[in-house]
Parts: sequence; C-alpha cells; structure tokens
Amino acid sequence: MNNSFGNNNGRQPTQGRRRGGGIRWIILLGFAVYGGCYYFSNRTVDPYTGEKVLIDAGLDASQEKAMGLQAYQEILSQERPIDPNTPQAQQVRAIAQRLIAKVPEVEAALAAENGLQASNFSQDFDWEVNVIASDQANAFCLPGGKMAVYTGLLPVAQSEDALAVVMGHEIAHALLRHGAQRMAQQKLTQIGQMAGAASGMDPQQQQMVMAAMGYGYLLPYAREHETQADEVGLMLAAAACYDPAQAMPLWERMSQSSGGQAPPEFSSTHPNPGTRIQNLTALQAKAMEYRQRFCTSAQ
Ligand SMILES: [Zn+2]
Repeated sequence: MNNSFGNNNGRQPTQGRRRGGGIRWIILLGFAVYGGCYYFSNRTVDPYTGEKVLIDAGLDASQEKAMGLQAYQEILSQERPIDPNTPQAQQVRAIAQRLIAKVPEVEAALAAENGLQASNFSQDFDWEVNVIASDQANAFCLPGGKMAVYTGLLPVAQSEDALAVVMGHEIAHALLRHGAQRMAQQKLTQIGQMAGAASGMDPQQQQMVMAAMGYGYLLPYAREHETQADEVGLMLAAAACYDPAQAMPLWERMSQSSGGQAPPEFSSTHPNPGTRIQNLTALQAKAMEYRQRFCTSAQ
C-alpha cells in the first residue's frame, strides 16, 4: 500500500488545497482590480512638480478646507495660542502674508517650467496663522491654509529669513495637497489590508506585507513630499524677498536642536539632514533667480 494514500482516509488534501488556492487568487485579483481602478481613476498631475499624483477625485477644495479647519480648531482648543497682538505673533503673521502673496506667481512659474497651467487650487484657502506657546521647534500648515508656528521654533530659526524658509515649507505641503495624497494612499493601503484578510492570508503574513509596504513604499513617498515641500517653499521664500541661503544653516540647527527627539513633522519622514542640505544647496541658483524675478517691491 502506498504510504501517501495510507493516512488520509480517502480524502484528497492536495486537490482541496489547490481549490482553496484558486479562490484566494480570484479574491486577490478582485481587490487588485478594485485598487487599480481607484488608482488610475484618481491620478492627476500636480502643476508645481509636473508629477502624477494620487488624489481622490471626489475630494474638492471645500471638503479639504473643511477637514483642515476641523483639525485646526481641535489643535487650537488643546494648545495655547498666544495673543495675536504680541510682537512675535505679528512678526509671524507678516511673514505668512508675504509668502502667501507670492503663491500665484510662484505656482504659475513652476507650472510653466513643467509645461502646465497653474491650478490655482489655493485661491479659496482661508489663510490664518497662530503662534502656539510650546517648547517644540515645530510648525504646520493644514489643507485650506490654517497654519501654526510653535514658539520653540523661534530660537532655532534665529532670523526672519530662516523662519520664512520653514513657513514656506509648511505652506508648500498645503499647496501640493500632500494631506489629500496621504488620504488616498491610506485608502489604497486599506484595500490591500482587506485583500489580505479576505484571501485568508494569516495575520503574520499580512503584517510582513504591510511592513514591507511601509518601508518600501510609504516612507520613501513621505520623504518625496518633504523634498517637494523644500523646493516649493524655498521658491516662495525667495520670491517674497527672503534670503534662500539661510535654508542650509537653518536645517543644520533644526537637526542639532532635535537631537533625535524631533517633533513629528521634522522627524522620521524628513530626508536625512545631509541629503536635505545637498538638495537645498543645489536649489540656490534657482531660488536666486526667483528672487530676482519676483522680489520687486520693497518689502
Ligand atoms: Zn514637511
């Protein structure tokens, strides 16, 4: 008697497994088609970078603004915004105004370099900036133009020029719709998770796949956003008559001050300091050109 048939009481496990495998592949294929449809029907070209990006086509400016506003109100209710009439708050507001005033020209110039037209997506933003009392060397700009600068950033920035570089970087995140892109990425990730669960992948396998995706895809993607925000932000600062050469010493100070304990916006997703400084150095000539072109009025 053949051993391989001796212990299975007439069942044929090989065939059963093959059938289960087939169903798994059909389920995975279904999710891949779903994910692919989502991906290709929500691709759009970003005018600032000329790159194809993934943003949910159903998400319009007003919805994005509403989400930004809600998050902003939550943050302001938990943190301590300082009196808007203090010199610090006035200084930060003045820098923000100068940067924001240059958005249309800088967007049009960058779009033209990519052979594109400006989308003027930010024209309906309700820009607002608050200064928050905190030791963190941090700042942010939410979708829709709601910004905050933490007082802990001021001693690290040291000058208006450097502060303008950081604020330009934050404004660039909002202009480039990085929040909306992250939401679309999360949706794709969820589709992937559902596919993993539905196809009967065991939790350990699923975790391995998600971790590989995190390192291989999502983290480089976040770093790419940082590099883009550095470039667009630097052009904004230069166009608003700030000194773009302050960007390099600023990021040196930022990485020193963080000492490995950087706040979320300036930690893991940010490019390694050496790479960032190289990129910013390489962008200086272009930034000076933008300064000459757009820094016309005495500010
Ligand atoms: Zn950033």
